[in-house]
Amino acid sequence: MDRVYNFSAGPSMLPEPALRKAQQEMLCYGTSGMSVMEMSHRSGLFKEIIEETEKLLRELMDIPDNYKVLFLQGGASSQFAMVPLNLLRKSKKADYVITGLWAKKAFKEAARYGTVRVVASSEDATFNYIPELDASMFDPDADYVHITTNNTIYGTRYTTLPDTGDVPLVADMSSNILSQVYDVSKFGLIYAGAQKNMGPAGLTVVIIREDLIGHALDITPTMFDYKVHADAGSLYNTPPTYSIYMCKLVLEWLKELGGVKAIEKINIEKAQILYDFLDESSLFKGTVVKKDRSLMNIPFVCPTEELNAKFIKEAAAKGLVNLKGHRTVGGMRASIYNAMPVEGVQKLVEFMKQFEVENK
Ligand SMILES: *Cc1c(COP(=O)(O)O)cnc(C)c1O
Repeated sequence: MDRVYNFSAGPSMLPEPALRKAQQEMLCYGTSGMSVMEMSHRSGLFKEIIEETEKLLRELMDIPDNYKVLFLQGGASSQFAMVPLNLLRKSKKADYVITGLWAKKAFKEAARYGTVRVVASSEDATFNYIPELDASMFDPDADYVHITTNNTIYGTRYTTLPDTGDVPLVADMSSNILSQVYDVSKFGLIYAGAQKNMGPAGLTVVIIREDLIGHALDITPTMFDYKVHADAGSLYNTPPTYSIYMCKLVLEWLKELGGVKAIEKINIEKAQILYDFLDESSLFKGTVVKKDRSLMNIPFVCPTEELNAKFIKEAAAKGLVNLKGHRTVGGMRASIYNAMPVEGVQKLVEFMKQFEVENK
C-alpha cells in the first residue's frame, strides 16, 4: 500500500527520509551490531546520539549558551505540573493566558501549587482568536507568565509575543516548535512534546534558562526536578532512547532542508494554499479569526454535519486521512506540520474543490 497524506494533529507525519534512514539502521546501528532500541543509554554510541541531537537543536533554534536542553518523558502534560513545581520560586504567583484546552489544563495543574491567575481568555468564542495583551495586564510580581504559542485544537497562534517585562515567559510550543523562527532569548522556558514536529511520541523537550533551574518546591518528586535532569545531562534515568534517535534524524532532515527559516517559508506557503481556498470557497469555511491563523493546524467546516462526515470519508478514500476535527470544534482540521509536503496540501485543496462542485 502507498503512504497516505496524514493530517493527524499528533502523533503526526514524519519526514520520509528520516523514516528511511531509521529503516536502514533498524537492525544494526553503525558498527554496533544492534538496533538503537537495544543499546544501553550509558554506551558511548548512545552518548554520541544524544549529544548530536542537542547540538542540532541548539544550532537550528540558535539556543543561547545560558540555556539547558533537556530530553524528558511524560509528554507536554507532565510539564503542566513540572513548570509550576520548579518555577514558583518567589511570590508563588503565575499568570496564564487561556487560548485553548491545553492552556486550560496547564492552568488547572498549576493552581494545585500556587496562586495562578487568568490574564485573558478567548473561551468566550470557542478559542477562535488570541486575546489582545499588553504589558500592563501582567503582574510584575509573578514568577512566570505561561502561554501556548500554537493552539493545536483551535488553529490559532501568537503572531507576536506578549511583553512580560522581567517576568520569565514560559511557552508550550508542542505544536509549532521548529516551524517558524523564534528568538529563544525571549523565553524563560520552552517545552514541547516531540510527536508533532520533532519525532515520535515518548520524548518531551525542555529548553530552560539556567537561572530558573534549582528552585524546585520541596514537594517536587525527584523526576520532576529540572536540576536533577540538567545535572545528569538528561541521563539521570533511562531516557526515551529511540525517540531521541528519531528526533536526531528529523533534525538532520530539517538542517539539510535549510533550517527553520527555510521550513518557515514553506510552512507559510502551505498554509496560504489552504487559507486562500477557504477564503474563496462557498462551501468550506475557516473557523478562526484571520489575523491569528495557525500555520500548523487549520480547522474548517462545511454547512452541515452530513457534508462534514461525507467529506472526511471521501477524503480518506483518496489517501487524505485523519481530517476529522476535534470534538469541541467539529468539522475538519488539517494539521500540516513540518513533515507535510506542499503536494499534500495541494492534493487536499484539489479534492476540496472537486467536493465543492459535486455537493453544491
Ligand atoms: C499535543 C499537545 C499537548 C499534549 O501533549 P502530550 O505530549 O500528549 O502530553 C499539550 N499542549 C499542546 C499545545 C499540544 O499540542
